[in-house]
Amino acid sequence: MDTIYALASARGKAGVAVVRVSGPKAHSALALMTAVPKTRQASLRKLYWQGAVLDEALVLVFEEGASFTGEPSVELQLHGGQAVVAAVLQALSGIDGLRLAEAGEFTRRALENGCLDLTQVEGLADLIDAETEAQRVQSLRVLSGAIGAKVEGWRRDLVRAAALLEATIDFADEDLSVDVMPEVRALLDGLLSQLDAELAGAKIAERIRDGFEIAIVGRPNAGKSTLLNALAGRNAAITSEIAGTTRDVIEVRMDVDGLAVTFLDTAGLRDTDDPVEVLGVELALQRANAADLRVFLLDGLSDTPAAVCRENDLIVLGKADRFSGDDLSRFAYHVSGLTGQGVQLLLGAVSSVLLSRTVGAGTLTRQRHQIAVRNSLNALRSAMNELERPLMGVEVVAEELRAASRALEVLLGRIDVETVLGEIFASFCIGK
Ligand code: GDP
Repeated sequence: MDTIYALASARGKAGVAVVRVSGPKAHSALALMTAVPKTRQASLRKLYWQGAVLDEALVLVFEEGASFTGEPSVELQLHGGQAVVAAVLQALSGIDGLRLAEAGEFTRRALENGCLDLTQVEGLADLIDAETEAQRVQSLRVLSGAIGAKVEGWRRDLVRAAALLEATIDFADEDLSVDVMPEVRALLDGLLSQLDAELAGAKIAERIRDGFEIAIVGRPNAGKSTLLNALAGRNAAITSEIAGTTRDVIEVRMDVDGLAVTFLDTAGLRDTDDPVEVLGVELALQRANAADLRVFLLDGLSDTPAAVCRENDLIVLGKADRFSGDDLSRFAYHVSGLTGQGVQLLLGAVSSVLLSRTVGAGTLTRQRHQIAVRNSLNALRSAMNELERPLMGVEVVAEELRAASRALEVLLGRIDVETVLGEIFASFCIGK
């Protein structure tokens, strides 16, 4: 196993830069530069190379089994200048048995050494990518092993149920003094409802991770673009995409009370003969349909919401600056993108609708998690069916329980890990 090193902090000038070294030669490499301090004791040390001082650094040494990777490792907190970092990396590259780490390699070793399971690796990637408060809280929960803890409980129940069934197979000729089936049924019933509940909360967990979509819909010239600009100007826009000639949905991603939200400005809805506009209207309806929430901008007092709107969507009178207080009081929400009137209230309404939905958020943040749990659930259902209406015997039930268990092991990355590693580590950078 090579010993790897890399800059773990961001590139460029900074107060402090952190270089990580991990692997069997981490400690001996450090010994070539300075007196190795006691493990887990931050020590200020001059680092020497070829008779000259490279830098004065805070040095941390971790022993095998007590580091992020599980390997012996070293962290150097250097002065964060580019020349300092370059000189230290250059020195490390000259040490036999050391090489520069590949992207995500430290985390990969942590996974291989059992310090993290696969869901925790995903949680770590999400924590590094987190842009909003809700993303931070959720990814930290996953990184802490929330999924693994649940899965362990489920697997214990599966193993117990399988063991009870195996006993009836092994001792089929003898009379068992107790009927194990009631306990098996109770275990499987409990598992079915827990896995079902977990899947029910998965959609929202995924939304917290990827962001909610809110479509602004209404007739042409209702003031949708102006409202989007007002929203973006008022709130920290994370990214903003201006529509090209082929795309006519403009997206602005922003942080709304800790939630990642993408507002979509769609083509105005109206009947038209213009084939290009027809396409735009179709796309607008598609995106509005798929969105988590729609803000329908009423164009005047007699306008009515389009059919695409659903219960709990926000129906808002636009161009509020044109109307009197009496008219406005007939509408729960009214905004003027032009003057900014009502925009903050609208954002507040959006935020409370979305926050009320996040209450049911589960821990399965990715589609991969949902697929694994659904596979497990399907196997459990087959086991239950066979148990209730025996066709093929108790061996088949035991086999389905093993399949349910295997699906959960895939979730944690204990088996079949290679098939998903590439995709997961693609988002990692060098030094992580
Ligand atoms: P969209 O087609 O729905 O995106 O509408 P736009 O945002 O492009 O606005 C259409 C026209 O209405 C433009 O001339 C805007 O200046 C005007 N407009 C938009 N919002 C407001 C508003 O809040 N108040 C007033 N008085 N005019 C507005």
